[in-house]
Amino acid sequence: MIELIRQGLNGGQPMRRMWQQSELRDRYDVVIVGGGVHGLAAAYYLAKDHGIRDVAVLEKNYLGSGGSGRNTTIIRSNYLTPEGVQFYDESVRLYETLSTELNFNLLFSQRGHLTLAHTDSAVRTMRWRAEVNQLQGVDSRLIWPDEIARLCPLLDLSDRPRYPIQAALYHPPGGIIRHDAVVWGYAAGADQAGVHLHQLTEVTGLEVVDGKVSGVKTTRGTIKTGCVLNATAGWCTLISDMAGVQLPVTTHPLQACVSEALKPFLDVIVVSGSLHVYVSQSDRGELVMGAAVDPYQSYSMNSTLGFLENIAGHMLELFPTLHDVKILRQWAGLCDMTPDYSPIMGFTPVEGFLIDVGWGTYGFKAGPVSGKRMAELIATNRTPDLLAPFALARFRDGQLVGEKGAASVGH
Ligand SMILES: Cc1cc2nc3c(=O)[nH]c(=O)nc-3n(C[C@H](O)[C@H](O)[C@H](O)COP(=O)(O)OP(=O)(O)OC[C@H]3O[C@@H](n4cnc5c(N)ncnc54)[C@H](O)[C@@H]3O)c2cc1C
Repeated sequence: MIELIRQGLNGGQPMRRMWQQSELRDRYDVVIVGGGVHGLAAAYYLAKDHGIRDVAVLEKNYLGSGGSGRNTTIIRSNYLTPEGVQFYDESVRLYETLSTELNFNLLFSQRGHLTLAHTDSAVRTMRWRAEVNQLQGVDSRLIWPDEIARLCPLLDLSDRPRYPIQAALYHPPGGIIRHDAVVWGYAAGADQAGVHLHQLTEVTGLEVVDGKVSGVKTTRGTIKTGCVLNATAGWCTLISDMAGVQLPVTTHPLQACVSEALKPFLDVIVVSGSLHVYVSQSDRGELVMGAAVDPYQSYSMNSTLGFLENIAGHMLELFPTLHDVKILRQWAGLCDMTPDYSPIMGFTPVEGFLIDVGWGTYGFKAGPVSGKRMAELIATNRTPDLLAPFALARFRDGQLVGEKGAASVGH
Protein backbone atom coordinates (compact mmCIF):
# COMPACT_ATOMS: atom_id res chain seq x y z
CA MET A 1 0.00 0.00 0.00
CA ILE A 2 2.79 2.41 0.98
CA GLU A 3 4.59 1.48 -2.24
CA LEU A 4 1.40 2.24 -4.25
CA ILE A 5 1.02 5.68 -2.65
CA ARG A 6 4.72 6.38 -3.25
CA GLN A 7 4.32 5.40 -6.91
CA GLY A 8 1.22 7.63 -7.20
CA LEU A 9 3.17 10.61 -5.88
CA ASN A 10 6.07 9.69 -8.13
CA GLY A 11 4.24 10.83 -11.24
CA GLY A 12 4.05 7.37 -12.82
CA GLN A 13 7.75 6.49 -12.62
CA PRO A 14 8.26 2.76 -13.30
CA MET A 15 7.75 0.56 -10.20
CA ARG A 16 10.86 -0.85 -8.53
CA ARG A 17 11.54 -4.37 -9.80
CA MET A 18 10.80 -7.20 -7.35
CA TRP A 19 14.39 -8.43 -7.69
CA GLN A 20 17.48 -7.37 -9.59
CA GLN A 21 19.61 -9.11 -12.14
CA SER A 22 22.99 -9.52 -10.44
CA GLU A 23 26.40 -10.35 -11.91
CA LEU A 24 27.19 -14.05 -11.53
CA ARG A 25 30.23 -14.19 -9.24
CA ASP A 26 32.83 -16.94 -9.48
CA ARG A 27 32.45 -17.82 -5.79
CA TYR A 28 29.72 -17.72 -3.13
CA ASP A 29 29.60 -18.96 0.47
CA VAL A 30 26.38 -20.84 -0.28
CA VAL A 31 24.91 -21.95 -3.62
CA ILE A 32 21.27 -23.03 -3.68
CA VAL A 33 20.16 -25.02 -6.71
CA GLY A 34 16.45 -24.50 -7.48
CA GLY A 35 14.44 -21.28 -7.52
CA GLY A 36 11.22 -22.64 -6.05
CA VAL A 37 9.70 -21.82 -2.69
CA HIS A 38 12.20 -24.07 -0.87
CA GLY A 39 15.36 -22.63 -2.41
CA LEU A 40 14.13 -19.05 -2.12
CA ALA A 41 12.90 -19.43 1.47
CA ALA A 42 16.23 -20.96 2.52
CA ALA A 43 18.06 -18.04 0.89
CA TYR A 44 15.75 -15.51 2.55
CA TYR A 45 16.16 -16.98 6.07
CA LEU A 46 19.94 -17.43 5.63
CA ALA A 47 20.21 -13.69 5.04
CA LYS A 48 17.53 -12.52 7.45
CA ASP A 49 17.99 -14.85 10.44
CA HIS A 50 21.72 -15.53 10.20
CA GLY A 51 23.25 -12.62 8.28
CA ILE A 52 24.62 -15.00 5.61
CA ARG A 53 24.20 -12.93 2.46
CA ASP A 54 26.90 -14.27 0.15
CA VAL A 55 24.33 -16.63 -1.33
CA ALA A 56 23.32 -17.45 -4.91
CA VAL A 57 20.11 -19.14 -6.00
CA LEU A 58 20.56 -20.84 -9.39
CA GLU A 59 17.43 -21.53 -11.41
CA LYS A 60 17.57 -23.13 -14.86
CA ASN A 61 14.25 -21.63 -15.91
CA TYR A 62 12.34 -18.76 -14.26
CA LEU A 63 11.68 -18.49 -10.50
CA GLY A 64 8.63 -20.56 -9.59
CA SER A 65 8.64 -22.50 -12.86
CA GLY A 66 8.69 -25.86 -11.03
CA GLY A 67 6.15 -27.23 -8.60
CA SER A 68 6.05 -23.93 -6.71
CA GLY A 69 4.15 -22.26 -9.55
CA ARG A 70 2.06 -25.31 -10.49
CA ASN A 71 0.61 -26.52 -7.23
CA THR A 72 -2.92 -26.25 -5.91
CA THR A 73 -1.76 -24.24 -2.86
CA ILE A 74 -3.27 -26.28 -0.04
CA ILE A 75 -1.69 -25.60 3.33
CA ARG A 76 -2.46 -27.75 6.38
CA SER A 77 -0.83 -29.64 9.25
CA ASN A 78 -3.27 -32.51 9.97
CA TYR A 79 -0.74 -35.24 9.20
CA LEU A 80 -0.52 -38.75 10.63
CA THR A 81 2.82 -38.92 12.49
CA PRO A 82 3.76 -36.67 15.44
CA GLU A 83 6.97 -35.71 13.58
CA GLY A 84 5.00 -34.70 10.49
CA VAL A 85 2.35 -32.78 12.44
CA GLN A 86 4.92 -30.75 14.42
CA PHE A 87 6.86 -29.94 11.27
CA TYR A 88 3.91 -28.84 9.12
CA ASP A 89 2.33 -26.99 12.05
CA GLU A 90 5.34 -24.68 12.26
CA SER A 91 4.89 -24.00 8.54
CA VAL A 92 1.20 -23.11 8.94
CA ARG A 93 2.15 -20.70 11.73
CA LEU A 94 4.86 -19.10 9.58
CA TYR A 95 2.37 -18.74 6.71
CA GLU A 96 -0.06 -16.97 9.06
CA THR A 97 2.34 -14.03 9.46
CA LEU A 98 4.17 -14.26 6.14
CA SER A 99 2.29 -11.45 4.34
CA THR A 100 3.31 -9.06 7.11
CA GLU A 101 6.85 -10.40 7.27
CA LEU A 102 7.41 -10.08 3.49
CA ASN A 103 5.29 -6.91 3.20
CA PHE A 104 3.43 -8.55 0.32
CA ASN A 105 -0.18 -9.72 0.29
CA LEU A 106 -0.11 -13.49 -0.22
CA LEU A 107 -3.93 -13.83 -0.05
CA PHE A 108 -3.76 -16.58 2.59
CA SER A 109 -7.28 -17.82 3.28
CA GLN A 110 -7.67 -20.26 6.20
CA ARG A 111 -11.06 -21.61 5.23
CA GLY A 112 -10.96 -25.12 6.70
CA HIS A 113 -9.99 -28.48 5.22
CA LEU A 114 -12.24 -31.54 5.05
CA THR A 115 -10.86 -35.02 4.37
CA LEU A 116 -13.78 -37.31 3.60
CA ALA A 117 -14.06 -40.87 4.89
CA HIS A 118 -16.11 -43.22 2.70
CA THR A 119 -15.30 -46.51 4.44
CA ASP A 120 -15.01 -47.88 7.98
CA SER A 121 -11.23 -48.12 7.67
CA ALA A 122 -11.03 -44.49 6.46
CA VAL A 123 -13.09 -43.40 9.48
CA ARG A 124 -10.60 -45.23 11.70
CA THR A 125 -7.65 -43.47 10.03
CA MET A 126 -9.35 -40.06 10.38
CA ARG A 127 -9.97 -40.74 14.07
CA TRP A 128 -6.32 -41.72 14.47
CA ARG A 129 -5.17 -38.56 12.71
CA ALA A 130 -7.48 -36.41 14.84
CA GLU A 131 -6.00 -37.92 18.01
CA VAL A 132 -2.40 -37.39 16.86
CA ASN A 133 -3.22 -33.84 15.71
CA GLN A 134 -4.89 -32.88 18.99
CA LEU A 135 -2.02 -34.27 21.04
CA GLN A 136 0.25 -31.90 19.10
CA GLY A 137 -2.10 -28.96 19.72
CA VAL A 138 -3.43 -28.86 16.16
CA ASP A 139 -7.10 -28.01 15.60
CA SER A 140 -8.48 -31.14 13.93
CA ARG A 141 -11.45 -33.40 14.70
CA LEU A 142 -13.74 -36.04 13.29
CA ILE A 143 -17.15 -34.74 12.17
CA TRP A 144 -20.31 -36.47 10.94
CA PRO A 145 -22.67 -35.89 7.98
CA ASP A 146 -24.87 -33.28 9.73
CA GLU A 147 -21.87 -30.99 10.33
CA ILE A 148 -20.37 -31.80 6.93
CA ALA A 149 -23.66 -30.69 5.36
CA ARG A 150 -23.52 -27.36 7.20
CA LEU A 151 -19.92 -26.75 6.05
CA CYS A 152 -20.45 -27.92 2.48
CA PRO A 153 -24.14 -28.00 1.47
CA LEU A 154 -23.58 -29.11 -2.15
CA LEU A 155 -21.80 -32.37 -1.23
CA ASP A 156 -23.89 -35.44 -1.96
CA LEU A 157 -24.30 -36.94 1.51
CA SER A 158 -27.00 -39.42 0.49
CA ASP A 159 -26.42 -43.15 0.15
CA ARG A 160 -26.76 -42.87 -3.65
CA PRO A 161 -23.00 -42.75 -4.48
CA ARG A 162 -20.94 -45.89 -4.81
CA TYR A 163 -18.96 -44.85 -1.71
CA PRO A 164 -21.30 -42.80 0.54
CA ILE A 165 -19.62 -40.26 2.81
CA GLN A 166 -19.54 -41.53 6.40
CA ALA A 167 -17.50 -38.86 8.20
CA ALA A 168 -14.70 -36.35 7.68
CA LEU A 169 -11.57 -35.06 9.35
CA TYR A 170 -12.16 -31.33 9.83
CA HIS A 171 -9.09 -29.07 10.12
CA PRO A 172 -10.18 -25.41 10.45
CA PRO A 173 -6.68 -23.82 10.00
CA GLY A 174 -6.22 -25.50 6.60
CA GLY A 175 -6.22 -23.00 3.76
CA ILE A 176 -5.14 -21.85 0.33
CA ILE A 177 -2.80 -19.06 -0.71
CA ARG A 178 -1.54 -17.35 -3.88
CA HIS A 179 1.45 -19.52 -4.82
CA ASP A 180 3.16 -17.06 -7.22
CA ALA A 181 2.98 -14.40 -4.55
CA VAL A 182 4.77 -16.66 -2.05
CA VAL A 183 7.56 -17.26 -4.58
CA TRP A 184 7.81 -13.59 -5.51
CA GLY A 185 7.62 -12.47 -1.88
CA TYR A 186 10.50 -14.70 -0.79
CA ALA A 187 12.49 -13.75 -3.91
CA ALA A 188 12.04 -10.03 -3.22
CA GLY A 189 12.89 -10.48 0.47
CA ALA A 190 16.03 -12.47 -0.35
CA ASP A 191 17.07 -9.96 -3.02
CA GLN A 192 16.62 -7.01 -0.66
CA ALA A 193 18.79 -8.82 1.90
CA GLY A 194 21.63 -9.14 -0.64
CA VAL A 195 21.10 -12.65 -2.08
CA HIS A 196 21.83 -13.06 -5.81
CA LEU A 197 19.02 -14.69 -7.81
CA HIS A 198 20.20 -16.12 -11.15
CA GLN A 199 17.48 -17.26 -13.54
CA LEU A 200 18.28 -19.13 -16.78
CA THR A 201 21.33 -20.62 -15.03
CA GLU A 202 21.37 -24.39 -15.18
CA VAL A 203 23.59 -26.52 -12.98
CA THR A 204 25.35 -29.10 -15.14
CA GLY A 205 27.82 -30.62 -12.68
CA LEU A 206 29.19 -30.53 -9.14
CA GLU A 207 32.87 -30.58 -8.18
CA VAL A 208 33.63 -32.93 -5.30
CA VAL A 209 37.20 -33.31 -4.04
CA ASP A 210 38.12 -35.76 -1.26
CA GLY A 211 34.47 -36.24 -0.27
CA LYS A 212 33.82 -32.50 -0.01
CA VAL A 213 31.95 -30.22 -2.39
CA SER A 214 34.11 -27.48 -3.89
CA GLY A 215 32.21 -26.04 -6.83
CA VAL A 216 29.20 -25.94 -9.12
CA LYS A 217 29.38 -26.08 -12.92
CA THR A 218 26.69 -24.10 -14.70
CA THR A 219 25.75 -23.11 -18.23
CA ARG A 220 27.24 -19.69 -17.37
CA GLY A 221 30.53 -20.85 -15.85
CA THR A 222 31.91 -22.52 -12.73
CA ILE A 223 31.27 -21.21 -9.22
CA LYS A 224 33.52 -22.08 -6.27
CA THR A 225 31.70 -22.84 -3.03
CA GLY A 226 31.93 -25.10 0.00
CA CYS A 227 28.18 -25.38 0.49
CA VAL A 228 25.54 -26.50 -2.02
CA LEU A 229 21.86 -26.99 -1.20
CA ASN A 230 19.89 -29.19 -3.58
CA ALA A 231 16.33 -27.80 -3.64
CA THR A 232 15.26 -29.07 -7.04
CA ALA A 233 12.26 -31.28 -6.09
CA GLY A 234 11.30 -33.27 -9.23
CA TRP A 235 14.84 -32.98 -10.61
CA CYS A 236 16.61 -33.68 -7.29
CA THR A 237 18.09 -37.08 -8.17
CA LEU A 238 19.77 -35.57 -11.24
CA ILE A 239 21.59 -33.02 -9.06
CA SER A 240 22.39 -35.50 -6.29
CA ASP A 241 23.80 -37.94 -8.84
CA MET A 242 26.28 -35.19 -9.81
CA ALA A 243 27.63 -35.39 -6.25
CA GLY A 244 27.55 -39.20 -6.24
CA VAL A 245 24.74 -39.25 -3.66
CA GLN A 246 21.94 -41.68 -4.44
CA LEU A 247 18.48 -40.74 -3.22
CA PRO A 248 15.50 -43.07 -2.67
CA VAL A 249 13.36 -40.79 -4.85
CA THR A 250 11.37 -41.36 -8.03
CA THR A 251 9.88 -38.57 -10.12
CA HIS A 252 6.22 -38.74 -11.17
CA PRO A 253 4.01 -36.20 -12.93
CA LEU A 254 1.09 -34.75 -11.00
CA GLN A 255 -1.78 -33.11 -12.87
CA ALA A 256 -4.34 -30.50 -11.90
CA CYS A 257 -7.05 -28.43 -13.58
CA VAL A 258 -9.40 -25.49 -13.03
CA SER A 259 -13.00 -24.99 -14.06
CA GLU A 260 -14.61 -21.87 -15.40
CA ALA A 261 -15.44 -19.31 -12.69
CA LEU A 262 -18.58 -20.05 -10.67
CA LYS A 263 -20.53 -18.07 -8.11
CA PRO A 264 -18.87 -18.79 -4.72
CA PHE A 265 -20.41 -21.91 -3.14
CA LEU A 266 -17.49 -23.88 -1.72
CA ASP A 267 -16.15 -22.34 1.48
CA VAL A 268 -13.94 -25.27 2.50
CA ILE A 269 -11.31 -27.45 0.85
CA VAL A 270 -12.68 -30.93 0.15
CA VAL A 271 -10.42 -33.97 -0.20
CA SER A 272 -11.36 -37.57 -0.90
CA GLY A 273 -8.48 -40.03 -0.75
CA SER A 274 -10.78 -42.90 -1.73
CA LEU A 275 -11.96 -41.11 -4.89
CA HIS A 276 -8.50 -39.63 -5.64
CA VAL A 277 -9.80 -36.10 -5.93
CA TYR A 278 -9.58 -32.80 -4.06
CA VAL A 279 -11.06 -29.37 -4.75
CA SER A 280 -11.12 -25.79 -3.51
CA GLN A 281 -12.71 -22.67 -4.97
CA SER A 282 -10.35 -19.84 -5.80
CA ASP A 283 -11.02 -16.16 -5.09
CA ARG A 284 -11.91 -15.83 -8.79
CA GLY A 285 -14.57 -18.56 -8.44
CA GLU A 286 -12.69 -21.26 -10.34
CA LEU A 287 -12.73 -24.79 -8.95
CA VAL A 288 -9.10 -25.86 -8.48
CA MET A 289 -8.97 -29.65 -8.70
CA GLY A 290 -6.29 -32.28 -8.34
CA ALA A 291 -5.75 -35.99 -7.95
CA ALA A 292 -3.06 -38.58 -7.24
CA VAL A 293 0.28 -38.68 -9.09
CA ASP A 294 0.40 -40.37 -12.47
CA PRO A 295 1.32 -44.02 -11.88
CA TYR A 296 4.45 -43.89 -14.09
CA GLN A 297 7.85 -42.23 -13.63
CA SER A 298 8.50 -39.40 -16.05
CA TYR A 299 9.89 -35.88 -16.43
CA SER A 300 7.07 -35.02 -18.81
CA MET A 301 4.77 -32.17 -17.86
CA ASN A 302 2.13 -33.04 -20.42
CA SER A 303 -1.54 -33.17 -19.49
CA THR A 304 -3.71 -36.17 -20.37
CA LEU A 305 -7.35 -36.62 -21.27
CA GLY A 306 -7.49 -39.69 -19.00
CA PHE A 307 -6.79 -37.52 -15.97
CA LEU A 308 -9.59 -35.15 -16.93
CA GLU A 309 -12.10 -37.95 -17.46
CA ASN A 310 -11.28 -39.52 -14.10
CA ILE A 311 -11.39 -36.31 -12.16
CA ALA A 312 -14.67 -35.24 -13.76
CA GLY A 313 -16.27 -38.59 -12.87
CA HIS A 314 -15.08 -38.44 -9.26
CA MET A 315 -16.09 -34.80 -8.85
CA LEU A 316 -19.62 -35.67 -10.00
CA GLU A 317 -19.83 -38.42 -7.39
CA LEU A 318 -19.18 -35.75 -4.75
CA PHE A 319 -21.03 -32.81 -6.38
CA PRO A 320 -23.63 -34.11 -8.88
CA THR A 321 -25.02 -30.60 -9.44
CA LEU A 322 -21.79 -29.57 -11.19
CA HIS A 323 -22.51 -31.65 -14.31
CA ASP A 324 -22.62 -28.64 -16.65
CA VAL A 325 -19.43 -26.98 -15.46
CA LYS A 326 -16.69 -26.55 -18.05
CA ILE A 327 -12.96 -27.07 -17.57
CA LEU A 328 -10.92 -23.96 -18.28
CA ARG A 329 -7.39 -25.40 -18.34
CA GLN A 330 -5.18 -28.22 -17.07
CA TRP A 331 -1.47 -28.60 -16.40
CA ALA A 332 1.11 -30.84 -14.73
CA GLY A 333 4.22 -30.64 -12.58
CA LEU A 334 6.83 -33.06 -11.27
CA CYS A 335 6.81 -34.73 -7.86
CA ASP A 336 9.81 -36.27 -6.09
CA MET A 337 8.25 -39.25 -4.31
CA THR A 338 9.92 -41.03 -1.36
CA PRO A 339 9.00 -44.50 -0.08
CA ASP A 340 7.45 -43.15 3.16
CA TYR A 341 5.77 -40.03 1.73
CA SER A 342 7.96 -37.78 3.89
CA PRO A 343 10.70 -35.37 2.75
CA ILE A 344 14.46 -35.82 3.06
CA MET A 345 16.33 -32.89 4.60
CA GLY A 346 19.83 -32.34 5.88
CA PHE A 347 23.38 -33.63 5.46
CA THR A 348 24.60 -36.23 2.96
CA PRO A 349 27.76 -38.36 2.93
CA VAL A 350 29.40 -35.61 0.80
CA GLU A 351 30.57 -32.78 3.06
CA GLY A 352 28.96 -29.46 2.15
CA PHE A 353 26.33 -31.09 -0.08
CA LEU A 354 22.92 -30.66 1.58
CA ILE A 355 19.47 -31.75 0.47
CA ASP A 356 15.94 -30.42 0.88
CA VAL A 357 14.03 -32.84 -1.35
CA GLY A 358 11.42 -35.59 -1.46
CA TRP A 359 8.54 -33.12 -1.44
CA GLY A 360 6.23 -35.28 -3.46
CA THR A 361 2.76 -33.80 -3.74
CA TYR A 362 2.89 -31.87 -0.44
CA GLY A 363 5.96 -29.62 -0.44
CA PHE A 364 4.47 -26.22 -1.07
CA LYS A 365 2.97 -26.00 2.40
CA ALA A 366 6.40 -26.80 3.87
CA GLY A 367 8.31 -24.01 2.10
CA PRO A 368 8.56 -21.63 5.09
CA VAL A 369 9.50 -24.21 7.73
CA SER A 370 12.02 -26.07 5.62
CA GLY A 371 13.54 -22.80 4.39
CA LYS A 372 13.87 -21.52 7.93
CA ARG A 373 15.20 -24.75 9.40
CA MET A 374 17.55 -25.59 6.51
CA ALA A 375 18.99 -22.07 6.87
CA GLU A 376 19.54 -22.80 10.57
CA LEU A 377 21.23 -26.10 9.69
CA ILE A 378 23.58 -24.37 7.24
CA ALA A 379 24.38 -21.52 9.64
CA THR A 380 25.00 -23.72 12.71
CA ASN A 381 26.18 -26.94 11.00
CA ARG A 382 23.72 -28.73 13.32
CA THR A 383 20.44 -30.47 12.48
CA PRO A 384 17.49 -28.66 14.13
CA ASP A 385 15.24 -31.00 16.18
CA LEU A 386 12.32 -30.49 13.79
CA LEU A 387 14.37 -31.81 10.86
CA ALA A 388 16.06 -34.74 12.62
CA PRO A 389 13.36 -37.34 11.76
CA PHE A 390 13.67 -36.50 8.05
CA ALA A 391 17.39 -37.28 7.61
CA LEU A 392 18.57 -39.37 4.66
CA ALA A 393 20.04 -41.87 7.14
CA ARG A 394 16.51 -43.00 8.13
CA PHE A 395 16.39 -45.23 5.05
CA ARG A 396 19.60 -46.96 6.17
CA ASP A 397 18.40 -47.22 9.78
CA GLY A 398 14.84 -48.32 8.98
CA GLN A 399 13.32 -45.31 10.77
CA LEU A 400 10.71 -44.31 8.18
CA VAL A 401 8.18 -41.54 8.84
CA GLY A 402 5.14 -43.16 7.24
CA GLU A 403 2.77 -40.45 6.02
CA LYS A 404 1.00 -42.22 3.16
CA GLY A 405 -2.33 -42.18 5.03
CA ALA A 406 -2.22 -38.39 5.28
CA ALA A 407 -0.07 -37.24 2.36
CA SER A 408 -1.48 -39.25 -0.51
CA VAL A 409 -3.98 -37.13 -2.51
CA GLY A 410 -4.91 -35.11 0.59
CA HIS A 411 -2.75 -32.06 -0.15
C1 LIG B 1 -0.23 -30.17 -9.71
C2 LIG B 1 0.45 -30.06 -8.37
C3 LIG B 1 -0.32 -29.78 -7.25
C4 LIG B 1 0.29 -29.68 -6.00
N1 LIG B 1 -0.46 -29.28 -4.94
C5 LIG B 1 0.13 -29.06 -3.74
C6 LIG B 1 -0.63 -28.53 -2.65
O1 LIG B 1 -1.82 -28.26 -2.79
N2 LIG B 1 0.02 -28.32 -1.47
C7 LIG B 1 1.34 -28.61 -1.31
O2 LIG B 1 1.86 -28.41 -0.20
N3 LIG B 1 2.10 -29.07 -2.34
C8 LIG B 1 1.53 -29.30 -3.54
N4 LIG B 1 2.27 -29.75 -4.60
C9 LIG B 1 3.71 -30.06 -4.40
C10 LIG B 1 4.55 -28.79 -4.42
O3 LIG B 1 4.23 -28.03 -5.56
C11 LIG B 1 6.04 -29.10 -4.44
O4 LIG B 1 6.34 -30.10 -3.49
C12 LIG B 1 6.85 -27.86 -4.10
O5 LIG B 1 6.46 -26.79 -4.91
C13 LIG B 1 8.33 -28.10 -4.23
O6 LIG B 1 8.97 -26.87 -4.12
P1 LIG B 1 10.51 -26.75 -4.39
O7 LIG B 1 10.90 -25.35 -4.19
O8 LIG B 1 11.23 -27.80 -3.60
O9 LIG B 1 10.67 -27.22 -5.91
P2 LIG B 1 10.25 -26.52 -7.28
O10 LIG B 1 9.26 -25.44 -7.09
O11 LIG B 1 9.89 -27.62 -8.23
O12 LIG B 1 11.58 -25.83 -7.71
C14 LIG B 1 12.69 -26.58 -8.15
C15 LIG B 1 13.39 -25.74 -9.19
O13 LIG B 1 14.64 -26.33 -9.51
C16 LIG B 1 14.91 -25.96 -10.84
N5 LIG B 1 15.97 -26.83 -11.36
C17 LIG B 1 15.88 -28.15 -11.65
N6 LIG B 1 17.05 -28.61 -12.13
C18 LIG B 1 17.90 -27.56 -12.14
C19 LIG B 1 19.25 -27.39 -12.54
N7 LIG B 1 19.97 -28.41 -13.05
N8 LIG B 1 19.81 -26.16 -12.43
C20 LIG B 1 19.11 -25.12 -11.92
N9 LIG B 1 17.80 -25.23 -11.54
C21 LIG B 1 17.22 -26.43 -11.64
C22 LIG B 1 13.58 -26.14 -11.54
O14 LIG B 1 13.51 -25.42 -12.75
C23 LIG B 1 12.60 -25.63 -10.49
O15 LIG B 1 12.21 -24.30 -10.70
C24 LIG B 1 1.70 -29.89 -5.86
C25 LIG B 1 2.47 -30.18 -7.00
C26 LIG B 1 1.85 -30.26 -8.25
C27 LIG B 1 2.71 -30.54 -9.45
